Amino acid sequence: MLVTMKEILDRASEQGYAVAAPNVDNELNARACIEAAEETHAPLILDVAYRAVADLYFFGQQLRVLAQQSNVPIAINLDHGSDLSQIQKAIQAGFTSVMIDRSACPEAVNIREVSEIVKLAHAAGVSVEAEFGHVGDAQQDMQEAEAGFTDPARVKQYIDKTQIDCLAVAIGTAHGAYPCNVVPKLDLKRLVQIKEASGNFPLVLHGSSGCDIASLKEACRLGINKVNINHDLCKAAAEAVKQESFEGNRAYMIFRTAQMGLKQKLIEMIHVYGSSDKAWNIPSRGLPKTQLPQR
Ligand SMILES: [Zn+2]
Repeated sequence: MLVTMKEILDRASEQGYAVAAPNVDNELNARACIEAAEETHAPLILDVAYRAVADLYFFGQQLRVLAQQSNVPIAINLDHGSDLSQIQKAIQAGFTSVMIDRSACPEAVNIREVSEIVKLAHAAGVSVEAEFGHVGDAQQDMQEAEAGFTDPARVKQYIDKTQIDCLAVAIGTAHGAYPCNVVPKLDLKRLVQIKEASGNFPLVLHGSSGCDIASLKEACRLGINKVNINHDLCKAAAEAVKQESFEGNRAYMIFRTAQMGLKQKLIEMIHVYGSSDKAWNIPSRGLPKTQLPQR
């Protein structure tokens, strides 16, 4: 069923687990992610990057149908919305949540611009994620990254002034693939301080690909409630295809194999995040599931 991200993350924060937020940009990876969530009976947040989709309205409507047909709670979120026009398009496309990323701006600008988006989105019943501190790129050097870590002492004020629904924090991860042999070190002490200072507010981890599983699991236990994942899922899909030989050049088999690789990796990660069996039922909000033809 289709829900807002706030509905998913308030529960996750109260109960101490994290929900998977895979990046999706087409029907194939969206369906694979939903199958993973259904098999583990987990809530799910579909993250859509604006630049990855040619027609946001069309894709938003597709995702809404898939979410409404599903028996697990699913939110549709715009990942890293950069301006008002992108946010408005996502709301028109039926997204139930948007991220507005002003983390590269000075704090006062970040607060002012995020607050304006929150008013607009909340009026439409849409949840808002924002970032305080700055999660950088995996290729940048670590000293630069540390300068952007979230300051626990300033978090509560940021949340109160902006009225956001969940907060992306910078505690040691970065976007994209890390250079060879680099495993990010998560600042879990800082995470605990942020969680306490924020009054047990829902927190988001960006750039989780490449993290060691034990630290990730601990981060979800200590206060992260949404984990964005992209690179590791793409890698699993590509590896699954590489291991097979496809006779007769059957496109369906190639795409299904990629879906299965992605799905298995996401199932593994949902168990790490602690959200398996955390789906709840709202039967009246579901649509009958489409029966796909068997091949
Ligand atoms: Zn991100």
